[in-house]
Amino acid sequence: MPPRGFSANWAETGNTLDGGCLCGGIRYRLRRLPTDVAHCHCATCRRSTGAPFVTWATLPRADVALLRGTPKGYRSSSHATRWFCPDCGAQLFLDDDGEATVDIAAAGLDQPDRLTPRYNTYTHGRLAFVNGFDASLADDPEDGIGTAPRR
Ligand SMILES: [Zn+2]
Ligand SMILES: [Zn+2]
Repeated sequence: MPPRGFSANWAETGNTLDGGCLCGGIRYRLRRLPTDVAHCHCATCRRSTGAPFVTWATLPRADVALLRGTPKGYRSSSHATRWFCPDCGAQLFLDDDGEATVDIAAAGLDQPDRLTPRYNTYTHGRLAFVNGFDASLADDPEDGIGTAPRR
């Protein structure tokens, strides 16, 4: 079962961005360049990837289409599902029950440098050895607290 709310495919345009998993079994397309892009330092992102933080790009679900393959999902918290390639294990999407948007693991895009990260979030979980990384970016003033938790 694919993530809910994704669209059927549409043609590539100059504004679309494609991405996929490491083995190529799953490919997806974004309708437009995401502008909500953040580095998440929460422990769930760390544990689910083995990386010190995950950069998420956020779009409405209908702005994402699967081109090939079917991701597998698991509940990573009481309110969110993470989707990954069942063959190579690459994490692809984070889907919070309460949001109309979906988070796309930005580094899986073919051209991640088309994105501009805007802020750091869940910085209370930031590892000491990434302190100073992207220090020019603001920390999320809510820091995942006080709004509906997204992770
Ligand atoms: Zn794969
Ligand atoms: Zn996170």
